[in-house]
Amino acid sequence: MGYQIDYEAMDRILEQLAKDYQIFAPKWDRQKKNVRYGIIRSIAEVVTGRQTDFSIKEAFYPISQVMLYFRADNVEEEELKDPRKILILCRPCDINSIRRLDKIFLENGAPDYFYARLREKVVFALLECRKSFEDCFCVSMQSNITGDYAFALRLDNRDGITAAPILVQVADAAFEEYFAGAEAADFQPEFVTENKKIMHAPEISRADLKEISDLEYWKQFDDRCIGCGGCNTVCGTCSCFDTSDVLYAEGKSDGERRRVWSSCMIPTFTETAGGVRARKTPGANMRFKVFHKFYDFRARFGEDNMCVGCGRCDMRCPKDISFFDTVNGLTEEIRKMKTGGEPESK
Ligand code: SF4
Ligand code: SF4
Repeated sequence: MGYQIDYEAMDRILEQLAKDYQIFAPKWDRQKKNVRYGIIRSIAEVVTGRQTDFSIKEAFYPISQVMLYFRADNVEEEELKDPRKILILCRPCDINSIRRLDKIFLENGAPDYFYARLREKVVFALLECRKSFEDCFCVSMQSNITGDYAFALRLDNRDGITAAPILVQVADAAFEEYFAGAEAADFQPEFVTENKKIMHAPEISRADLKEISDLEYWKQFDDRCIGCGGCNTVCGTCSCFDTSDVLYAEGKSDGERRRVWSSCMIPTFTETAGGVRARKTPGANMRFKVFHKFYDFRARFGEDNMCVGCGRCDMRCPKDISFFDTVNGLTEEIRKMKTGGEPESK
């Protein structure tokens, strides 16, 4: 069913929904001066005029998460404190990024317990996305469309203007009750059909891996990338974390086991006991990241590339390294490699 409602009515619906769901949406973080997913209480809080700086994953895959508490003689699992489900108002690329993340956490061997127990609480509400932002290349990555949502909203909160009615499509019958009494309207969400940026994803075969790994191309990042890991932090499809045991006092055996997001771009990511590092340079780290997003994931799961083309890593990088340009550049390098042409970088 489709409906049209005003902002006050939508706030009353959110109030009802909040009894059953923690409701996340893109909102301003005034302290940090950025837009990220946070709990909303009013629909006017939702930011629609720009891409979020951080991804949707932090709504249910926390940056830092206690897994268990330990003492000398027992271990207790961390309990989830909020019994409600999690409703996230988000864009098509965000929903598709979580589908990619699910493959890594849930379909890559034994499911990750701590991811699964929060992920199974998540329901998506689609924020219609009809106009591409500057850094998006979702169409190239086929992440611009989704049918995976309970209800969809056409919302225009730009510049605080909340006069136009909100259009709603309820896709999951379980959500009809929240919109009972609303005025009927004919509404189907539309999706972005083109971006300014077009990604030419590289075709990487197993037979070519060594030759592509050895390209001079990767060396340009040794001077440019500072290994801050910002690009991974904002990526909705990056999953890596570190696990560490934190003792509450020196010499005691009470403590907690935490996992904290990590990054394949930081210098110590591959460091093992004795200080040995499998990948020693920023260029090697970039090669790993590109391979992971554009070769390993597809080789493992046989469908899409891992990247959804949200463009956040390009927005985030303090050294203006564009992942979009990096991957398109690699495609060109591979073309030259195959055709015997001169590579651009030496
Ligand atoms: S564009 Fe960057 S941040 Fe977005 S999914 Fe791709 S690699 Fe991750
Ligand atoms: S954000 Fe930029 S500088 Fe930082 S690790 Fe990523 S590519 Fe390197």
